[in-house]
Amino acid sequence: MSVSSSVSSAQVITIDDVRSLVSQQWGYDSFRPLQQEAIENVLAHRDSVVVLPTGGGKSLCFQAPACALEGLAVVVSPLISLMKDQVDALHTNGVAAAFYNSSLTPAERNSVIDAIRSDALKLLYLAPEGLLTENMMSLLCGVPLSLIAIDEAHCISSWGHDFRPEYRGLKTLKQRFLGVPIHAYTATATERVRQDIATQLALEEPAVLVGSFDRPNLKYRVERKAGGIDQILNVVHQHQGESGIVYCISRKEVERTAEALDALGHSALPYHAGLSDIDRQNNQEAFLEERVDIIVATVAFGMGIDKSNVRFVVHSGMPKSLEAYQQESGRAGRDGLEADCCLFYGGGDLMTWKRIMDSSGEANEAALAALEAIDRFCKSTQCRHKSLVEHFGQAFDPTDCGACDICLGDLDLVEDALIIAQKILSCVIRLEQMYGAEYTAQVLVGSQEKRILEKGHDKLSTYSLLEEYSKSVIRDWIEQLLGQDCAVKYGEYSQLQVTELGWKVLRGEHTPKLVKPVSKQSRKQQQTVDPASWDGVDRQLFESLRELRREFATEQGVPAYIVFGDATLRDLARRRPSTTENLLKVNGVGQKKCDDYGRQFLEHIADYCHETGAEQDSVPEPVSQSTPSDHPSSGLTASAVSAFPHFKAGTSIAETAQKMARAESTVRGYLGQFIKHEQITDPSPWVDFATVERIRAALDTVEGDRLKPIFEHLGGEVSYDHIRIVASCLANVEGT
Ligand code: ADP
Ligand code: ZN
Repeated sequence: MSVSSSVSSAQVITIDDVRSLVSQQWGYDSFRPLQQEAIENVLAHRDSVVVLPTGGGKSLCFQAPACALEGLAVVVSPLISLMKDQVDALHTNGVAAAFYNSSLTPAERNSVIDAIRSDALKLLYLAPEGLLTENMMSLLCGVPLSLIAIDEAHCISSWGHDFRPEYRGLKTLKQRFLGVPIHAYTATATERVRQDIATQLALEEPAVLVGSFDRPNLKYRVERKAGGIDQILNVVHQHQGESGIVYCISRKEVERTAEALDALGHSALPYHAGLSDIDRQNNQEAFLEERVDIIVATVAFGMGIDKSNVRFVVHSGMPKSLEAYQQESGRAGRDGLEADCCLFYGGGDLMTWKRIMDSSGEANEAALAALEAIDRFCKSTQCRHKSLVEHFGQAFDPTDCGACDICLGDLDLVEDALIIAQKILSCVIRLEQMYGAEYTAQVLVGSQEKRILEKGHDKLSTYSLLEEYSKSVIRDWIEQLLGQDCAVKYGEYSQLQVTELGWKVLRGEHTPKLVKPVSKQSRKQQQTVDPASWDGVDRQLFESLRELRREFATEQGVPAYIVFGDATLRDLARRRPSTTENLLKVNGVGQKKCDDYGRQFLEHIADYCHETGAEQDSVPEPVSQSTPSDHPSSGLTASAVSAFPHFKAGTSIAETAQKMARAESTVRGYLGQFIKHEQITDPSPWVDFATVERIRAALDTVEGDRLKPIFEHLGGEVSYDHIRIVASCLANVEGT
């Protein structure tokens, strides 16, 4: 059966009609880039392929015209969770929408079917397999359709990174629904995938719109992993009380990191494929409803997460491709407000991924090439925005993006890069291009290691040529030279070989860029958030509005940002409206939301302003916020943090060691971290009073920081452990 169900041709809806509808129902006063063009194609009943980055606002491109046009819009979406969120969001904007899938009860399904038959819906969300059943197809052939929107359209292409065979069946839509325009939407599509989408869906001369892949509101920072969780903590501390995602490569690391963050008083929950369905769902909901700030997850988390106010995404290890990185980091800042994306990569991450891919049978050429590409990105000295955008085949013009570690000068360029590079490359040559990066760095730093001495490499002219630097700095430089094609790795042991460009460096004809990691001090100054969008925002009011939002969200069982996004809350806390009229001027407040939540929010704001004397209905002059302070680095490790509850409970070192199945010496190390991190000043749980006093006296008498003279001063009667504990506690007293 092939029934035509095209829209009535008498209907003429203009872009201005849609604009005023968007302003009324969504409360947006302007379109994002390409939204207008995309909507115009829909209004012109012309097939289209729309490629906009995550957060670009694809949904509005079909939702808004669907509301304006006659008939029902069918939206194909791959995930049930995604549908529910979108439909919830539409309901809060007063749009008649529904989804139809296996999560509904038979009664709920019947009522959706009734609604379809009686033309009561503007949008219907379906998974491909749900749409393609004969029953659903016949039902939909019998009602007027305005359009068919295919979300996550790259799933139809085997060239994409997320091929779903069930999408292939969508091919038949064009024949079954004659005259109904089809619009495909995706965030990631290379030229090839774009073509494939159009072909597979049998689109007729589709308009193709490709938005900029750049996400200017995301600030990228890429750092070598220092070990421990300090780097993650730094980010978390800058975003107290805000939503964030921490991605880890392994499940074990997810567990450890979530526990550590939790033990340190940050609300965090784990998410990975090893958890039960119930736990996963609960943790995800807690995150969406803002009952927990941080979700620590493997890549299993995120598909279908539309939460718009994620303020940071941390990668505690290297992702497996730039596509994955773009998508995972892209979950930050979908509301267009600034957000931080921090990637901490380790030397071993590449090998870890290769192992994972080998065991899962994913290790094909394309996957390995993608791994190499992200590895180069991590070690690159080129603007992160530029690298990402160019990877996706677009040009990036700004010479300074102002929002990445490279452009912000987070990493200093080494002044004598040419000389250093020459030293490194000539060492590679002296080693006859037979050794890897680690060994080469050891030779350059002048290591006394047996292997080096045995092979007589301490006799090389390049031995200890860079002894004033640490081995890890030299390793980084080697990687940077590799990243700039001055050398390549080859063979089973990743031996180094100098390339043609490398020879140019040796001859002084080309100067590569080398960066050295900056000191903690200067990084601190640069890790400030752009205060622009906080300008004039009353933070205290913002916080209390978040509470109110949470109450609504919990009451209605929807994610908090569906009630109001962060941008809206900030604008509310900035303008502090006293009337409905002014409330409607606030970004993201449409008529429906104004009706639903307006009264409570207006009352809340009035009460607050009354109590604090804050002015209402004003758009204050921008004021700069003070920058959040950096958290001091403590060398803290996740394993140490797991011992903290024992120390807090006053458990002895011996007992803690037993409980944790660790050596006492290890636990003593943990205790040191505990005292430092928690700024403990009282050593009495571990050292008796008399001994404390003896040590204190000795510390006063003996000069210097070294423990040995104190040990000797005390006649060897007091253990080093006790001296160390007391000294650390007293240092905290002085430090405050
Ligand atoms: P995508 O599907 O492209 O990732 P969404 O459709 O989920 O993006 O939109 C991302 C966010 O941007 C949402 O919070 C949405 O409400 C908001 N948004 C979309 N269009 C506009 C607009 N014109 N003005 C303001 N906010 C918008
Ligand atoms: Zn940059």
